[in-house]
Amino acid sequence: MSDRLAVFDLDGVLADVRHRVHHVEGPRRDWDAFFAEALADPPLADGLEAVAVAEAEGLAIAYLTGRPERCRADTEAWLDRVGLPPGPLLMRPDRDRRPARMFKVEALRDLARTTSIAYLVDDDAAVVLAASEAGFPVIHAAWMGGGTEGVDRILYDVQETEGRT
Ligand SMILES: [Mg+2]
Repeated sequence: MSDRLAVFDLDGVLADVRHRVHHVEGPRRDWDAFFAEALADPPLADGLEAVAVAEAEGLAIAYLTGRPERCRADTEAWLDRVGLPPGPLLMRPDRDRRPARMFKVEALRDLARTTSIAYLVDDDAAVVLAASEAGFPVIHAAWMGGGTEGVDRILYDVQETEGRT
């Protein structure tokens, strides 16, 4: 296995979260319900294709998600169910409420101490900017159809105010 990693975000890159975003859109955000339905996420075809391309390039696959550690069992089951390759799964510590961009850049720096990171694939513009500024190559995934009114914006705003996605 290659020691060069392609690092993939989950929500909005590999997993289509749109069916459960309604739980966190209103004034009363139900994060437990939002995460509880993650096993039902349809995979995003463009994301699966990007993983296949990375594997064809000889890269090892790792996953870096803002989901909390308490979602690990469901997330691992989902990765297996949709046929994604096994690989390190880096998740946000349960009490880490920082914006995703801070957690993710720190995780990338930790990874880079022991391996070489070919690139990160993420759909969050704030993460893309922060990782890029930290010197990591980044592919901005736009295939879930976020846009200014889409799910990216909703999750992005929530992350900035609560650090919870
Ligand atoms: Mg994402």
